[in-house]
Amino acid sequence: MMKIATAEGTKTILAKYPFMMKKKYGQNFLIDSHVLSKIINAANITKTDSILEIGPGIGSLTQELLEHANEVIAVEIDKSLIPILDDQFGHFENFSLINDDILKLNLQDILKDKSSIKVVANLPYYITTPIIMDLLESNLPFVSIIVMVQKEVADRIVAKPGTKDYGSISASIAYYAQTRIVANVPQHSFMPRPNVNSAVIELSLYKNPPVTLKNKELFFRVIKAAFSQRRKTILNTLANNFDIDKSSIKEILDLANIAENVRGETLSIMNFAVLANLIAER
Ligand code: SAM
Repeated sequence: MMKIATAEGTKTILAKYPFMMKKKYGQNFLIDSHVLSKIINAANITKTDSILEIGPGIGSLTQELLEHANEVIAVEIDKSLIPILDDQFGHFENFSLINDDILKLNLQDILKDKSSIKVVANLPYYITTPIIMDLLESNLPFVSIIVMVQKEVADRIVAKPGTKDYGSISASIAYYAQTRIVANVPQHSFMPRPNVNSAVIELSLYKNPPVTLKNKELFFRVIKAAFSQRRKTILNTLANNFDIDKSSIKEILDLANIAENVRGETLSIMNFAVLANLIAER
């Protein structure tokens, strides 16, 4: 079978079917077999793995995933891609295809019997963050998430405290997973070429969270508050976002060993956890 993740393979598929690319669905298909190898190697797929693929497109990644994994569950929103995918992969016993919007689908229903799942995908960029946060918050047994995203988003996701890219998305994801950039991917690795650069990132999910929380919701509220006014000190952002007087916040910061004039962007999730736990006690 011809490799789909090449310019020739993609052109052949596109010529064979009456399919029109849709910009609104972020359709940029991977045509670079080196990048494909990097994704597959990072995912470290074995014959016992269940894979969730979001947005299979014409199957560039799917083709390789099916060779390596125990099963591949692919979710594609565009109904005009379904006959193509069925035609290419319908004969694989380890392939299931769901025609739905990943953000509306009840993943619990589909994945409830699985004991461990890896997500491997070249994501539609217009909904990268909601997809990743939904997966992380789902409580489903995801062990890793290896996804292609826009380069700027990748930089923000892997950013460490005190760097320019560090923000609420970096801190929120750091609660669930260790993150790294697997590969930077140029525009010419896709057909059609996107206007932005891309990167493959790996999120290795923690079995147990790296911090202990009294109130998880409060922890995420503290993170959100800390980055809501980036130029303000942590003392002022907490005072503006929580119904606690300034002198009590000063006490909390003192107990947390955090200077009152630092900005949220310098704080780690350990700092946010201590702050949230002290606020929870009030
Ligand atoms: N996996 C293919 C590849 O690597 O060439 C296609 C990747 S393309 C960047 C994104 C894919 O996600 C498209 O096939 C698009 O139709 C699909 N998609 C867009 N929005 C979606 C959604 N809400 N739910 C499921 N799939 C979606």
